[in-house]
Amino acid sequence: MQQEQAKQQNKINNIVIVGGGTAGWMTAATLAKILGKNYCAIRLIESDQIGSVSVGEATIPQISLFNKILGIDENDFVKKTSATFKLGIEFIDWTKNGGAYMHPFGEHGTNMDAIQFHHYWLKMHQQGKSPDLEEYSLAAVAARQGKFIRPQNMGNSPLSKINYAFHFDATLYADYLRDYAIERGVNRTEAKVVDVSLRDSDGFIDSLLLEDGERVTADLFIDCSGFKALLIEGALKTGFDDWSDVLPCNRAVAIPCLAKETEVLHPFTQAKAQKAGWIWRIPLQHRVGNGYVYPSKFVSDEAAVKILIAQMEGEPIGEPNFLRWTTGVRKKAWHKNCIAIGLSAGFVEPLESTGLHLIQSSIAKLMALFPHQGFNQIDIDTFNAQSKTELEYIRDFIVLHYKATDRDDSEFWRDCQKLQVSERLQAKMALYQANGRIYRQDNELFNETSWLAVMHGQGLTPSGYHPLVDALPEDEIERRLKHIHSVIQKSVATMPMQKDFIAKYCKA
Ligand SMILES: Cc1cc2nc3c(=O)[nH]c(=O)nc-3n(C[C@H](O)[C@H](O)[C@H](O)COP(=O)(O)OP(=O)(O)OC[C@H]3O[C@@H](n4cnc5c(N)ncnc54)[C@H](O)[C@@H]3O)c2cc1C
Repeated sequence: MQQEQAKQQNKINNIVIVGGGTAGWMTAATLAKILGKNYCAIRLIESDQIGSVSVGEATIPQISLFNKILGIDENDFVKKTSATFKLGIEFIDWTKNGGAYMHPFGEHGTNMDAIQFHHYWLKMHQQGKSPDLEEYSLAAVAARQGKFIRPQNMGNSPLSKINYAFHFDATLYADYLRDYAIERGVNRTEAKVVDVSLRDSDGFIDSLLLEDGERVTADLFIDCSGFKALLIEGALKTGFDDWSDVLPCNRAVAIPCLAKETEVLHPFTQAKAQKAGWIWRIPLQHRVGNGYVYPSKFVSDEAAVKILIAQMEGEPIGEPNFLRWTTGVRKKAWHKNCIAIGLSAGFVEPLESTGLHLIQSSIAKLMALFPHQGFNQIDIDTFNAQSKTELEYIRDFIVLHYKATDRDDSEFWRDCQKLQVSERLQAKMALYQANGRIYRQDNELFNETSWLAVMHGQGLTPSGYHPLVDALPEDEIERRLKHIHSVIQKSVATMPMQKDFIAKYCKA
């Protein structure tokens, strides 16, 4: 009985989240759902004066799991956030000869005799006997035709394996999650945090001072204050690992525009390389999100706006939103009684739409390692070690796009070729270039399909392929590849256009 009481007294009774951007509201919504109304008090403090970055609009398929945990009705969510569906990312002009390739969600072909599909394709492609890899991806073929459908319950058909994500309006998404969290008991305060006090005894955060003089205490503080990192860095001075040497883009400007009336509503994000940096295009139901990610070393803010507007398909419908950051990660995302989630924990640029996923992943780790007031150091160390590994793999995958290119038409791209990338990335590239081998390691976010799509798309070519491919007669490989190709084309032919799908189920 006494033991039970002690446990109760030691439990976390108050959580305060600082920041009401996407990170703050994703965290608040999940805590409210999982902890319920009675476990502890959850309060979120956000400042309208400061505002949020409001640019995280493209996601990856893991977000479906987040929606499932919250029990979100997907059609309702798509309507309310003016969302569209996403089957991958199209990369344009990332190599010397221009052109475009797709990083699709979902696999290429299907594995045969326990050997990855792409080895069979490599053998035939090296002999000029097979079309490009993309033709064997249902997601890529459907995306290019503007088609979309949710996975169908159809046995072995590629239609049963459709993997998708969303593009949505970041402001509407934060509003959606805010309503969700408040309905489930989260207490919202509109106020500016002006000071943070630490406990003398152990350096933990003791309280926050709000502009109106209120002092706010809590057992656990979650820092979702964005690039400011008000608690984790401002107060706790946790330190930062700077990755600017491998990811040179450190600025962005975002400007929305209206879509052309003839817009097909393609279900993919576009990333178009420039002389320095790249431009994103994110199609939503009511507008198109555009942004230029650039290195301040080569492009001024004024030039960036001009470059972006010149490539937009419609008139701007908002003022330029400038964003600045130093690429890298907090040395410890969890320190003492404070956990940084979102941009306060660090940022690698948005080329592969990983920002919101990292928030989701931090929340998942927090739930798995949820503390009591005693805070076990081993839990904290585990959280930090896992976060670091996860981010390093994502960083390497993004660096791959800059490193593995033959573009040399500007100082920016010539610098990229000289990037000193991690040993792990060097090894991955070398392994692929030898015999096309690719491994997913340490439960990293991006799987073999993603690495293959980008390494192939960026122009890396293996000198060989898996030797066991030769165990299958060549005409049999050719027959199977033709069959897979034909099944994909026929399956896509049965899919509706995304525009029609949305009109039927989830029009904003
Ligand atoms: C250029 C760019 C493009 C991106 N594109 C994508 C993408 O396509 N896909 C993706 O997944 N991610 C993307 N991201 C990342 C994504 O935008 C962020 O991960 C996400 O928006 C979370 O931001 P945040 O909530 O951490 O910070 P913010 O949105 O900056 O929110 C910070 C919050 O803290 C509050 N705050 C700050 N200081 C105080 C204070 N003193 N008192 C009270 N409140 C305070 C603010 O009011 C605000 O509510 C992108 C990021 C950038 C920079």
